[in-house]
Amino acid sequence: MRKKIIAGNWKMNKTPSEAAVLASEIRNKISDAKCDVVVCPTAVCIPGVVSALEGSSISVGAQNVHFKESGAYTGELSSAMLKDAGTLYTIIGHSERRQYFGETDETVNLRTKAAVDGGLIPIVCVGESLSERENGIMPETVCRQTKLAFLNIQKDDAENIIIAYEPIWAIGTGKTATAQQADEVCGIIRNTIKELYGEDTAEKIRIQYGGSMNAGNAEELLSMPNIDGGLIGGASLKPDDFAAIIKAAD
Ligand code: PEP
Repeated sequence: MRKKIIAGNWKMNKTPSEAAVLASEIRNKISDAKCDVVVCPTAVCIPGVVSALEGSSISVGAQNVHFKESGAYTGELSSAMLKDAGTLYTIIGHSERRQYFGETDETVNLRTKAAVDGGLIPIVCVGESLSERENGIMPETVCRQTKLAFLNIQKDDAENIIIAYEPIWAIGTGKTATAQQADEVCGIIRNTIKELYGEDTAEKIRIQYGGSMNAGNAEELLSMPNIDGGLIGGASLKPDDFAAIIKAAD
């Protein structure tokens, strides 16, 4: 039985003081959560959010990590820096980074390796665009993204990585994949992991769905056999909605 994991991607929202308040509000609403809960603020907000959540069961994640340990990479953050700041997870390869910041399957793999080597748990995002779905190449797109993200990742490390299936057409659009559509693709991803590492790893690895998940649709999505949690954008900024999604996961 895989433990569900709900992660909030706060994207480029909230100042450090606002983020600390939001973290405290969420903490107060979900003190009895049974699933794993993660919030991912912007890097500058991490220290304040870590202090606001100290002693709680909520973990903090970053939204990105660079693949080099240190050096002349202006504006970037290494896994050691994030770890030292109190971060346990990091999102990697979010479609917004692939779309606006030149993230490729290759850099997603390098970042995933760097996160694992640095002791962070990656939340690796994969997902097809609307045209890829309409042209019938959704399966090969998510298989390719998954296979390349896990290149040179050892089996022991692979099973701890979280995969977030996020169809691009459902992110921030209010259009959610149906529970059946989301479960089908999470199943395709799980099969890809089985091809790479075998049945035991495929059964252990946790696959989230992300794309306009909210208080109203979370329960149905999270009841599907291949969906082990959610990566939540908009609704993670609203403590009541985020708490309702966590309740649906429990
Ligand atoms: C996301 O950005 O990861 C996401 C799922 O956003 P939203 O929930 O707003 O669609």
